[in-house]
Amino acid sequence: MAIADASPVKTTCPYCGVGCGVLAKADAGGVVEVRGDPDHPANFGRLCSKGSALAETTGLEGRLLHPEIGGRQASWDEALDLVAGRFSETVRIHGPDSVALYVSGQLLTEDYYVANKLMKGFIGSANIDTNSRLCMASSVAGHRRAFGADTVPGTYADLEQADLLVLVGSNLAWCHPVLYQRVASAREMRPEMRVVVIDPRRTMSADSADLHLPVRADGDVALFAGLLAHLADHGALDAAYIERHTTGFDAALAAARAFGRREIANRTGIRPADLDRFYRLFAQTPKVVTVYSQGVNQSASGTDKVNAIINCHLATGRIGKPGAGPFSVTGQPNAMGGREVGGMANMLAAHMELGNPLHRERVQRFWKAPAIADKPGLKAVDLFRAVADGRVKALWIMATNPVDSMPDADHVRAALADCPFVVVSDVLAATDTGHYADVRLPAAAWGEKDGTVTNSERRISRQRPFLPLPGEARPDWWIVAEVARRMGFRSAFSYAGPAAIFAEHAALSAYDNNGARDFDIGAYAAIGTAGYDALTPFQWPAQSAQEAGDIRFFAEGGFFTPDRKARFIAIAPAAETWPQGASSLVLNTGRVRDHWHTMTRTGKSPRLSQHLAEPFVEIHPHDAARHGIGDADIVRVATPRGAVLVRALVTRRQAPGSIFVPIHWTDQFASNARVGTLVAPATDPHSGQPALKHSRATVTRFPAQWYGFAVLRHKPDGIPADYWSLARCEAGWRVELAFAGDRDWAGLARGLFAASPEAETLVYHDEALGRHRFAWFEGRRLAAALYLARDAVAVSRSWAVEQLAADYPHHHTRFSVIAGRPVAGVSDRGATVCSCFGVGVNQIAAAVGTGCTTVAAVGERLQAGTNCGSCRAEIRGIIDAHRLQAAE
Ligand code: SF4
Repeated sequence: MAIADASPVKTTCPYCGVGCGVLAKADAGGVVEVRGDPDHPANFGRLCSKGSALAETTGLEGRLLHPEIGGRQASWDEALDLVAGRFSETVRIHGPDSVALYVSGQLLTEDYYVANKLMKGFIGSANIDTNSRLCMASSVAGHRRAFGADTVPGTYADLEQADLLVLVGSNLAWCHPVLYQRVASAREMRPEMRVVVIDPRRTMSADSADLHLPVRADGDVALFAGLLAHLADHGALDAAYIERHTTGFDAALAAARAFGRREIANRTGIRPADLDRFYRLFAQTPKVVTVYSQGVNQSASGTDKVNAIINCHLATGRIGKPGAGPFSVTGQPNAMGGREVGGMANMLAAHMELGNPLHRERVQRFWKAPAIADKPGLKAVDLFRAVADGRVKALWIMATNPVDSMPDADHVRAALADCPFVVVSDVLAATDTGHYADVRLPAAAWGEKDGTVTNSERRISRQRPFLPLPGEARPDWWIVAEVARRMGFRSAFSYAGPAAIFAEHAALSAYDNNGARDFDIGAYAAIGTAGYDALTPFQWPAQSAQEAGDIRFFAEGGFFTPDRKARFIAIAPAAETWPQGASSLVLNTGRVRDHWHTMTRTGKSPRLSQHLAEPFVEIHPHDAARHGIGDADIVRVATPRGAVLVRALVTRRQAPGSIFVPIHWTDQFASNARVGTLVAPATDPHSGQPALKHSRATVTRFPAQWYGFAVLRHKPDGIPADYWSLARCEAGWRVELAFAGDRDWAGLARGLFAASPEAETLVYHDEALGRHRFAWFEGRRLAAALYLARDAVAVSRSWAVEQLAADYPHHHTRFSVIAGRPVAGVSDRGATVCSCFGVGVNQIAAAVGTGCTTVAAVGERLQAGTNCGSCRAEIRGIIDAHRLQAAE
């Protein structure tokens, strides 16, 4: 089906949990346009750099377009029969727990619902877990301990209405940029609003905060225990709320007091004066929202951190009120939808409890299922352990890349290699996980998919298709339902489409509910296809976008525990179990501004690949000097689990004694940068969420003898270098290289470029200086250029990549490519700062030098920072640097 109608479709961004509305359309030629949906209540028209670049990611390059069995193309019938047959046979011989699904917060709710139903109700095992386990499982566990249900009490508007916003383990400016922009706009309107950032790193979010508390890794529980004691000691408790709506306060306070001031100072590493400032601010500000994210969740004590935060909000009655409450922001676009359908190994559908026999019976009755899982299944880390030791013999992975994203990632890779039967549903043909699949199933991608997602504020929105399904790609719900039908469960999986699945999901949420459970969207049980197609975003517990009702929870109690009271959780100081070592550093992992997960989508976008084009390690100057590492050196970061090679980024943003490595780079984009290989599979005891942000690692300078940089119009097949990193750029690819010793440079260049015999070759060698340069021209265009140097390659990357698109009609101008610099009169915009408008650091510096001394003035001159705003802190940094220089 070609979409001829060029009117935009209202859909939702597929990246983070903000869940921005997008207007998207494709013309008859397949050219895609996207912009923010001004009517969507999550973003009111804004998009961040990732959302703005979605059109660059919808091409079919690299797509998996046909089912494959053992690497050969197969028909859908053959592939589905094989999957259903192997799963059925494995269950028959070894029992239901011998098979497993590992799914994803990228799935739509309808996909998730069908997968969960098949596993828990028809196969009869709860062995379905999700990459959301890596994202927010500790928030789920913390909510359930405190509230009796996985309920997010507040809304995005609360972040704007708060007088004090506390960001804990959340780099909102980079990871949830549109929400950050909403906060930034609110602060412009109300300059008295205060922001405190609690994060070991001085992130871009910290730059604009009133107070940054550089907490030691996993010092958050102590920090909030100290806050609870402070609130009690300074008359800031809401005694009436505690009395009426909670239990367990005295024990929680006693446990908090057990930390003591000295212990809190040791564990947090924060100066007592700064702690006191924060405690006073919190105590004196009734309207306070505490936002927490992966820095809280991805920890061996993540659930305790969540409850330590919630304790402080319960103690002050600051919950479920405009501008007040704890607020978990999810990393993924549909982590919340997955939670609503119970798509985790320890949950049941519609926020019901797997451990509750009444709930199990109810769900089984509703599904008319032959079985119901009666015990929790294997959570992600345990699931892959079970694959490794042979307990799980058939595994189906959907829309995720565990070979990269799981901790102990090489162990996961080995487990998949040994697993008797692995199925991977994905949109891309080449992924690090797909390599180990016996069967690969082509899934529909964003723009082709049709369903719903739920964002971090409980708002359900439609993802609508505006592109035809390419090749034989199919929606995930269809693939799962077809396998289920072939396993013999025909009537229960005979869905006419996603509307029917959504209606069933809605009906289950209301089934025997009567207000006992938080999640109830029963008003949509009879939605029908027309209603589904027209569905506008709504925020449960409201039953429609039009309903004027309370959209917050718990201001007046009404928790989902048996006595309807919230539970304070007493969190005693636990012994610190992390290995210490004088020569090792605390390894933190996380996201960068312009990439998403394992880059299967953002890696296609030239503009998103320019901001940070290489895997890197951020390291404090003192640590770098101690380890003999200079800025831009190649560094080996190692733990007992593995080692990676990444570029050194020496910066005071990183606290001494710690390093940061991003999560995004895979074997598709770098020689050796899968950070999951470094991380031990330690998990939180309550949530099973892995501690991805607290390993101990050593750093050593890689003894590079030669460095290289290349631009190419065509993606190279193989890259023969000790270190390489590949990134998309306008009109081609860019590659960073490093070598431990000499090579046959001319041979290497020929192999890398595979130049045609007609290509004009320009070569420059300077043995004394240690420089070799090669350039190939085909017609009037540069086909490739390679720069090699014994020290750093002094060529402007942004200028070099632009040459791939440049017109070179005259032979003599081509030597500028070999020279590695623009011809006179042509400017070099420098490294990308603003991805939305492609503005570089040199352009901004020039604007600052000619009188633009505010971020707004730079925006007015260059547009930089005027769309998503994620780069504003960097622009401010350039302005500040200019000021300092001028003052010297
Ligand atoms: S903030 Fe950016 S990545 Fe997140 S949903 Fe909005 S546009 Fe997408």
